Amino acid sequence: MSLSVVIHAAHDLRVEQVDAPDPAPGEVRIRIGRGGICGSDLHYFHAGGFGAVKLREPMVLGHEAAGVVEAVGQGVTHVVPGDAVAVNPSLPCGACAQCLAGRPNHCLEMRFLGSAMRMPHVGGAFRAHFTTEAARAVKLPAGLSVERAAFAEPLSVVLHAAAQAGPLLGARVLVTGSGPIGVLCAAVARLGGAREVVVTDLLPEPLAIARAMGADVTHAVATNPHALAPYAAGKGYFDVVFEASGSAPALAAGLAVARPGGVMVQLGLGGDIALPLGALVSREVRLTGSFRFHHEFGHALEVLAAGRIDPTPMLTEVVPLAEAGRAFALASDRKRAMKVQIAF
Ligand code: ZN
Repeated sequence: MSLSVVIHAAHDLRVEQVDAPDPAPGEVRIRIGRGGICGSDLHYFHAGGFGAVKLREPMVLGHEAAGVVEAVGQGVTHVVPGDAVAVNPSLPCGACAQCLAGRPNHCLEMRFLGSAMRMPHVGGAFRAHFTTEAARAVKLPAGLSVERAAFAEPLSVVLHAAAQAGPLLGARVLVTGSGPIGVLCAAVARLGGAREVVVTDLLPEPLAIARAMGADVTHAVATNPHALAPYAAGKGYFDVVFEASGSAPALAAGLAVARPGGVMVQLGLGGDIALPLGALVSREVRLTGSFRFHHEFGHALEVLAAGRIDPTPMLTEVVPLAEAGRAFALASDRKRAMKVQIAF
């Protein structure tokens, strides 16, 4: 058995025992070290899901995790007990039409960890001992700590978004929304050679972390709603806009300051929101979504191992498993928290 963070319904989060059997052929058991709380975990916690995805049975949360292999099943050769690994939450089937077409992040049979999309739900990695498919265990490059490796998942999301944006070398980049994904957009823009990185958020507190992660200039738009207006002059300024808030005002503000032919990558999910078509059409802005990741997971681990992106400014607190409820409350407070990790 393994102590685990289980969501039963909105606001009903429990730390309780869940099975952690010996690994079957093709499986591993991982002693989880750290797990980062993500926005989707918080949606399950506050609302029991999001959009059409609703909890229908208790589910272990968590899809940003890393630890050490403690047992391997028959036929598993790519890791051995004692190896430090990151848990890749993405597990495409490899056989559906989208997988075969080279789009595994759109797999029709995707088994993403800590997700209520399928029935039965795919339980997540917030547990002390996690028995799971061996393919999810990705050996850490030398020198990468388990604590930092738990940032590989959100960084993978952002590396995939950067691929949608195209070259960042010399680009003027705007990021709207300074949550964990937004500040990693700033860091990846910097890594990609951006000329200038500007980040906005409603609140000033998360913007301090955006600056620590590579932003040149930040604007708190709750107190200064017209902060971006100067960038709209002359048909716009930014080559690339990463929209990481999912809010209608941020989408409109970002579109208004993208240059003609610029690209806007939508990362934030905010339900159905109005799109100012005039701004999009008249300046030929290319608007694209970005969803999850695939090969970027290994790249993210290498970036973290080499220290080319240091996520430590994002890490608000490491909270023991027994205080998971407090960890979720803290993670929900954007004035105090960026990324909260649970120690298992
Ligand atoms: Zn598939």
